Amino acid sequence: MSKDAALAVLFGLFFLPLLLLPFLPQEDLGGPLSFPPTPGGNFRTYVVKPGDTLAAVADRYGIPLSYLVASNGLSAPSVLHPGQELVLPQGGVLHTVRAGQTLADLAATYGVSQEVIRKANGLSGEPLPGQRLFIPEPRTVPQAAVLELGGEGGTRFIWPLRGRLTSLFGPRTHPIYGTPDFHTGVDIAVPEGTEVHAAAPGTVTWAGTRGGYGLLVIIDHGDGYSTYYGHLSRILVHVGQFVEVGQVIALSGNTGLSTGPHLHFEIRKFGEAINPLPLLP
Ligand SMILES: [Zn+2]
Repeated sequence: MSKDAALAVLFGLFFLPLLLLPFLPQEDLGGPLSFPPTPGGNFRTYVVKPGDTLAAVADRYGIPLSYLVASNGLSAPSVLHPGQELVLPQGGVLHTVRAGQTLADLAATYGVSQEVIRKANGLSGEPLPGQRLFIPEPRTVPQAAVLELGGEGGTRFIWPLRGRLTSLFGPRTHPIYGTPDFHTGVDIAVPEGTEVHAAAPGTVTWAGTRGGYGLLVIIDHGDGYSTYYGHLSRILVHVGQFVEVGQVIALSGNTGLSTGPHLHFEIRKFGEAINPLPLLP
């Protein structure tokens, strides 16, 4: 073999495989998940690789980012770590039922009728905690709020809304009475009618007027944690309802003892108000 021919062969050996690269499978997707397949639902698992971002994975597989967040119970946009297994849902959200979450709650959360959820999952009664349900083509995916109201590190709570902090937690002079006072939460200045999101999943334990709070919603998140949303103009949930993180629970307002449109937001631990900032993004 001539020197030129040998070079040509070597060239081929080295570079032909490179030319084939674009046609090789890009990702090793796992097989279907082991739970019973649901009509219209097609799920696979994906193992996160170094450098993966949620947005990139969503983009690569043509899955709405919100579906990925909701199907994987993610608490922040960048919580991915290599080796982590992600559910890749298609045509809907794969929801993991939480304790206390009923079919009616899920219907309200996703804007899908109970009948549609029942049919898609062959459900006859109420779902069980931990059960995975396929929610076909949800009208809203509240968990997507963690992308804007959550933090990079993934905190226990997300902001109920974004706005200027006008009063922090702690001792202060009462804005109306001018007397020494202890502020049990933070005040966030927002125009009246701004959507208020649940800072974490949980059960609504109060939805109505309460003294200086005006229109108030309280959500019990378990582990001793609860959150308070005060001075609301309109409440969109009822006592006993289980709401998802990010779900719109009310519209902000100026009711009760309030000097202007804002949201009063509290986090309590075993009933005692604590400084919410360390638990927020
Ligand atoms: Zn306040």
